[in-house]
Amino acid sequence: MPKPEQRVAVVTGAARGIGAATAVRLAREGRAVAVLDLDEEACAGTVEQITAAGGRALAVGCDVSDADRVDAAVTRIAAELGAPLILVNNAGVTRDNLLFKMSESDWDTVMSVHLRGAFLMSRACQKHMVDARFGRIVNLSSSSALGNRGQANYAAAKAGVQGLTKSLAKELGKFGITANSVAPGFIATEMTAATAARLGMTFEDFKAAAATQIPVERVGEPEDIANAVAFFTGEEAGFVSGQVLYVAGGPLN
Ligand code: NAP
Repeated sequence: MPKPEQRVAVVTGAARGIGAATAVRLAREGRAVAVLDLDEEACAGTVEQITAAGGRALAVGCDVSDADRVDAAVTRIAAELGAPLILVNNAGVTRDNLLFKMSESDWDTVMSVHLRGAFLMSRACQKHMVDARFGRIVNLSSSSALGNRGQANYAAAKAGVQGLTKSLAKELGKFGITANSVAPGFIATEMTAATAARLGMTFEDFKAAAATQIPVERVGEPEDIANAVAFFTGEEAGFVSGQVLYVAGGPLN
């Protein structure tokens, strides 16, 4: 059994944004990290950041919505890095549109990546966690889970993530496994930059406008979310399970 700080973590969607910051943060705590994203080559930057600081990391190409590829990726991680006992389901996409313009493919794509992806990755990793009688699952939800205009698909998926999280917490608790959800507000990443571009705004103007609605008067950075994820994945958080932590610079209502 590895020493607690050497446990293997898998972070999905870790080539950039919140996932990359989370992978780097967990590596700083001594975790060996599987940096998983759609394109293995795109993971190189995150892996280099971790190894340059003396950590261990493995780039893994995988579509989290594809069951066979998920099972193969988790098998590879267990063989090359060690049993994955920490899982951060972070991979995500948006296909925003008002309901009357939302296509079935917009709906299905968002459900597949966020919900099916978190289900498949959790199912594949849980057997390692059950064997070890230790596990930490953190699922990325969103403030949009409370409902957001133009995001019926994304809001439904992110609310679904919260239900999945609570169910996993109830099922897996007896094996020493916790499941929690971090629900970010506005975080400056390529995802929010793409939203600004779609609205015809510069990213700087978009962030400044968002900040006026946030009590701490700034938008979030990926590291703000990585810090919250690190708490839930820690050894000392074993009695905290089934929770949703909104990390949004203030309360949402
Ligand atoms: P991001 O910058 O767009 O990064 C998401 C990453 O996930 C990308 O590298 C993307 O790869 C990858 N990905 C997409 N589909 C995938 C799949 N099927 N399998 C594996 N990887 C896949 O997003 P972010 O802003 O860091 O967001 C990370 C998470 O936080 C998401 O779940 C998002 O919904 C959530 N969140 C973000 C915000 C925010 O304000 N940014 C707020 C609330 C919640 P490609 O580049 O190849 O597509």
